[in-house]
This record gives sequence, structure tokens and C-alpha cells, in this order.
Amino acid sequence: MKTLSIAIHGGAGTLIKGLMTQELEAEYRAALKVARDAGFEVLQDGGSAVDAVEKSVKLLENTPLFNAGKGSVFTANGTHEMDAAIMEGENLKAGAVSLITGIKNPVSLARDVMEKSYHVFLAGDGAMRFAKDQGYEIKSPDYFYDEVRYQQWQSIKDTEGFQLDHSVKKDGKFGTVGAVACDKNGNVAAATSTGGMTNKKWGRIGDSPIIGAGNYANNKTCAVSCTGSGEFFIRGVVAYDVSCLMEHKGMSLEAASNEAIHKRILEIKGDGGLIAVDSNGNIAMPFNTEGMYRAAKSSKGIDIISIYK
Ligand code: ASP
Repeated sequence: MKTLSIAIHGGAGTLIKGLMTQELEAEYRAALKVARDAGFEVLQDGGSAVDAVEKSVKLLENTPLFNAGKGSVFTANGTHEMDAAIMEGENLKAGAVSLITGIKNPVSLARDVMEKSYHVFLAGDGAMRFAKDQGYEIKSPDYFYDEVRYQQWQSIKDTEGFQLDHSVKKDGKFGTVGAVACDKNGNVAAATSTGGMTNKKWGRIGDSPIIGAGNYANNKTCAVSCTGSGEFFIRGVVAYDVSCLMEHKGMSLEAASNEAIHKRILEIKGDGGLIAVDSNGNIAMPFNTEGMYRAAKSSKGIDIISIYK
């Protein structure tokens, strides 16, 4: 049997340690542990990597602590527009949704796009029609309301500014979420889900739902979920870049992940991080920001829940 492993993230950011209260830190750690352990249990029960990453991401989407699902940031119009993607490394199947509203678990809708449509990427009204056809309940905006997110939006509303949750240097909540896993057959999968950037407009879409940019999985190499300033991760095609560095340059998961985050994305001044697993169950979680909410577990004894460097 292959090494079972899972890694999750709740966003990379410039959170300053002294500004985080002990209680809040404990809440984040607890939420990360619950999501990580639930995904790992799926693997231990013989489940697939794709089931494991969906499970973990759904739990992260259900907590208002992170910028995905419940707790998604506000757009310039005071709405929530969410993006998500999921990919299986065994057959390169992928599904993604963008600019969706009212869906409790965008990651599951992305999975339905992968499994129940002929397509890979559905956006906006069309994605919402697909959701309705699939019988999804449409939640009211109240479900997504979060006071901290609202205040973040108020501070830049009616300006040209927009911000990544994680560029807020106070104890604000931040965090796109993601998960990557390797199952007993050595199949890998990746899932990513986000509310994007506060005060975003013009139908802005980040890297998270873009296959190869913020999310990618390939059994030949690795599964990757990114977090950070999406524009840079799109331009750097970062998730696929990690896979390419392994496939074409023969780099290890660790070396390829570090090269992407500590060198290549920095060359275009991008900030953020990623989580990755390979089909041998190795895990890498580099970031070039002050922190990244992250957790990992493997059948070889890895057990990490961490926020800062
Ligand atoms: N990468 C996401 C985006 O740009 C944001 C994040 O990672 O928090 O939409």
C-alpha cells in the first residue's frame, strides 16, 4: 500500500503573530485539525484522494474562519462570488466553477461539473443554472454574512482598491482553502475554493478555479493547491509549473515546490504559497508570506498543524 497523505491550507498571508489572540489561534488550529483529520479518515477507510480532498474542503468552506463558502469576502457590489476547482491525477479529469453565488459548497459543484457534465469550467449564470439542474439549494446572502468580512469591505468600499484577505495586517480572517491528497493506490487529487478578493469587481476571477494556475493534479508528478495573489499565480501557471519542474526537470516534490514559491513567483513579485503531495505520499507546503494556515498528516507519521514560519 502507498503512503496515505493529506495536506490542507486555509490561505497564505502576512498575519503578524503578535496580533493574533490565543483564542482565535486556537479556533484556527481546531478548524484545520477537524478538516485535515476528516480527509485523512477517508483515506484510511480506503477512500479515494478525490473524496478526501472534497471532504476536507467542504469542512473548511463550512466555517466562517476562512474565505471560502461561508465566510467568503464581499465584492464591490456587496455580494459573494465564489470560485472552486477539483482535479484527479489518475485521469486528469477536472471540474471548476467561477462567479457563483448562494452555493454552500462550491467544491462539490466543481466536482459535479467534472463528473456530471461534459465540461471542465462553468461560470456565472450558466454555472448557477447547472447547479439548479443538479438540485442544489440556493442559500440566501445571510448565510454568507460575516461581520469581519463586512468591515473589511467597508474599509475599502467605493474606492478603486481591492484586497486579498491576507494582505490585511491585523488579526483579520483570511484564507482561500485547499486540500491535496494521495490515496492507497497512489492516486493524487487537489481541490481549491475561494471567495476571491474583497471589493473585487468586473467579474474578476483569481487563480483558484483555473486548472494549472491555482489547482492541478497528475499522478505522474503531484497534486497542488495554491493560495496568494491570484493574478501572479495565473501568470506563473504555478500549480502546473510545479508538476512540469518534476516531470521535465526531474526535480523532487520539495525542490519543485520551493523553486515555484521561493524563486519563480518572486521573480514576478507574487506572494503566496502552496501545498503539494506526490504519488509517493511526500508533502511540501512552502510559502513566501509571513504565514500560511496549514495542516498535514500521513501514514508515515507526519502530523502538522501550523500557521507561522
Ligand atoms: N488566490 C486567491 C485569489 O486570488 C486568493 C487567496 O489565495 O486567498 O482569488
